[in-house]
Amino acid sequence: MESNYFTIIDYPTGMPSRDLFALRHRELPELADGEVRIRNTWLSVDPYMRGRMSGQRTYIDPFVAGEPLDGAAVGEVIASRDARFQEGDKVSHGAGWRDVAQLSGEAVHKLPDLGVPEQAYLGVLGMPGMTAWTGLNRIADMREGDNVLVSAASGAVGSLTVQLAKAKGGRVVGIAGAPQKLEWLESLGVTPVSYRGKDARELAADLHKACPDGFDVYYENVGGACLEAALDNLRLGARIAVCGLIDSYNAQGPTPGPSNLSKLLFHRARMEGFIVMDHWDHYPRFLEEVGPRVANGEISYKETVEEGLDATPDAFLKLFEGGNTGKMLVRL
Ligand code: NDP
Repeated sequence: MESNYFTIIDYPTGMPSRDLFALRHRELPELADGEVRIRNTWLSVDPYMRGRMSGQRTYIDPFVAGEPLDGAAVGEVIASRDARFQEGDKVSHGAGWRDVAQLSGEAVHKLPDLGVPEQAYLGVLGMPGMTAWTGLNRIADMREGDNVLVSAASGAVGSLTVQLAKAKGGRVVGIAGAPQKLEWLESLGVTPVSYRGKDARELAADLHKACPDGFDVYYENVGGACLEAALDNLRLGARIAVCGLIDSYNAQGPTPGPSNLSKLLFHRARMEGFIVMDHWDHYPRFLEEVGPRVANGEISYKETVEEGLDATPDAFLKLFEGGNTGKMLVRL
């Protein structure tokens, strides 16, 4: 059986172009003992994959040009030589960017039966959801009554973060780009602020208007002007959870730091980066807490869906142009 997969042909600087990605084919070997073959039904594309295209190790191994890319995917088992998996099982795993995956059963996970669509395990109940929950609770230590600011607030991570913060009794402000994203945030009870066309000072002024008392928590997904504007609006003892810095992922060289780091000092604030994988032992707790609230509609989520394997590179590139509301996915 053949597997069709994407690879990169080089290590890009700046914003990658569509030509970076090549579709290749490979004949799969016979299934070995302990292996599982899966027909992928949904692929995830995520901003962190840009860092893996640099050719350098960061907190994770880089992609290798010419070799299959990988990433989260869900699919259906079509053959198994691992007694834990049967044909027809719905599973998640890390061999995305391809239509058929073959891998050790050790790296495959049966989807929990929570009554949600299977692709939810790539978004609101998968790695992005777990990231939202971890950053808000374990890093920013959000408490009832906190004023909370979230950047990239209508994305996969941001849109769950704002809802968890609201449910925990926070007053929440969300930064996003397009008008329909701002409207969605407003419908969730979040005060929306657009960053488009604004420098850090203008954004800081708008954040002040949205929440004159300042923020106890800043959930950082973007960096750049958003970080500088947030630093200008901190409350005493604020906590900043640095989840992502997407504004710099396609930068051509070193990016300037915020000019107002002194605000951390003045407000006795704490800023801490985290990688969700370091907290994965808490995933069952997250699922127990958040899963039923997604299943019963208390927590809402959106998906932006591109169709077919060929669309995977475009889906990925759109993340950097604000082309997604909620989780960006590819349906095969
Ligand atoms: P999103 O679904 O939020 O998609 C990216 C969004 O970021 C876009 O839709 C766009 O929304 C916004 N954006 C892109 N470029 C810029 C920019 N230059 N300035 C402002 N906003 C921008 O992605 P995720 O929810 O998957 O990820 C969010 C962040 O979390 C990323 O930085 C990611 O790297 C990070 N992350 C970190 C993890 C960790 O373990 N620390 C794990 C998972 C994600 P808009 O229209 O509003 O511009």
